[in-house]
Amino acid sequence: MKLKVCMNHKNYIYTLNLFCPECKNPTKEAHYKFIKIRDAPKSG
Ligand SMILES: [Zn+2]
Repeated sequence: MKLKVCMNHKNYIYTLNLFCPECKNPTKEAHYKFIKIRDAPKSG
């Protein structure tokens, strides 16, 4: 199973379903670029 994400929301909803449990829209495959790591130190 691949992680899916619904980007219709301010806070993206991650799910394994093909459809968002909140808005019922089809979800997209979640790529790493969509996942922001909060603990990452700020550089520059
Ligand atoms: Zn949604």
